[in-house]
Amino acid sequence: MYHWQLQQRDYLNAMLSVDKFPHALLFTGPDGTGKKEFAIDYAKKLLCSSGADEACGQCHSCDVFLAHTHPDYLNIAPADENKAIAVDVIRELIVKLTKTSQFGGKTVAIVENAEQLNRNSANALLKTLEEPTADTILILVCSFPHRLLPTIRSRCLQLAFPIPEKQTALSYMQQHGVDDAELYLQLSHGSPLKACQMAGTELAEQRKSVLKSLIKTSRGQAISAAMKEIEKIPLKATLDWSIDFCDDLIRVISQGEQAVLTHVDVREVLCKMAGCCQVQALYHFRDLLIERKKQSNIALNTQLLLEDLLILWKQAF
Ligand SMILES: [Zn+2]
Repeated sequence: MYHWQLQQRDYLNAMLSVDKFPHALLFTGPDGTGKKEFAIDYAKKLLCSSGADEACGQCHSCDVFLAHTHPDYLNIAPADENKAIAVDVIRELIVKLTKTSQFGGKTVAIVENAEQLNRNSANALLKTLEEPTADTILILVCSFPHRLLPTIRSRCLQLAFPIPEKQTALSYMQQHGVDDAELYLQLSHGSPLKACQMAGTELAEQRKSVLKSLIKTSRGQAISAAMKEIEKIPLKATLDWSIDFCDDLIRVISQGEQAVLTHVDVREVLCKMAGCCQVQALYHFRDLLIERKKQSNIALNTQLLLEDLLILWKQAF
């Protein structure tokens, strides 16, 4: 677990020590705070025979856990971010949870990206939550808890995993040898894990390409030139960076040059753009970005979509 998660660890340990540990937990918080990693580490701790604050890493249970063969640990995750967790998978999980644990202790199951439960799988899971088996612990991990059935939310003890404090995040990144830590942390909305994934990689270059294309198009460059630059970049990333860029521009327009920005490295350019921008058109562009982002799990014609967006963007200048 990460050192910004000690509070959550101690809170759970305290309940465990007085035998008041809940049957179902819901870990929530934005992407990139490490809540999934915490869930896995804590499952290991719940199964560990040492009774220490964290898994000992030395007992038989910890050994088999590390080898991914622990018979009393189950982990379910959707195949990808666009796929629902199927009802069959949940039914199989329930059957396993009703069996006695092989090591004679607890059985722990994690459901990752629980917001991807569909109505059927959520209802199947609900039954288990209503009638839990003794010594089973279910941990749901979820970045968008409002997408869960309210009845599921209400039957779990919710534990929040917020973005760590800036200094904590920066020191983690510095320990991992990230240059320009502050910039990457800002670009990742405060998530040190996302920031480390981005720093010095192709992603960082792709962001620059998207920004450069938007800036040049706003100055009159042909849309076809921008298309060439950005059509090879994953659509979701292009949309996310464009939304942030648009928000930055809106902030500069409304709050002035000192506004808090995401793309902090292009502040000067944004300030110049703010002076010659049609705000109404900018909001239209933003609306379309958000709409396309919601549809990005549907197979769309990326080229047409980008062209439409760039036409709207160009109209704002
Ligand atoms: Zn152990």
